[in-house]
Amino acid sequence: MEIKMSTLEKYLYERYSGWTNEQGLFLKLVEEIGEVAEVINMRNGSKLAYGSNLEQKLGEELCDMVHYIVAIAAINNIDLTKTMIEKDKIASKKYNHDNNLESYIINNEK
Ligand SMILES: [Mg+2]
Repeated sequence: MEIKMSTLEKYLYERYSGWTNEQGLFLKLVEEIGEVAEVINMRNGSKLAYGSNLEQKLGEELCDMVHYIVAIAAINNIDLTKTMIEKDKIASKKYNHDNNLESYIINNEK
C-alpha cells in the first residue's frame, strides 16, 4: 500500500482541524524530533539503548515527525505535494542539479 500525500493531508485535517492549532502541533513535532535524536544517539552509542530493535524504533519516530509535519500543513490548507515540487524546482536551479522532483516523478511513473 502506498500513502498518497493528499489522502494523508485530508485524514490529518479531519483529525486535527477545529480542536488544535499549529502551535500545539509544532510542539508535538519538536517532541518527536527529540525522540528521533534519542534513537539516533542510542544507535551510535551516545546513549544507553533500551529495547532491541532500534531500526524499527527510528522508523516509528520518523513517522511521528512526518505525521505532525503533514498535520501542520493540513490544518493550514497547504498542498504539500505542490509546494514540494515548486520548492524542489527552485533548489534544483539554485544548486545546478541535473534533475528535479517533477521530472523525476514524470520519468519514473510511466
Ligand atoms: Mg514518537
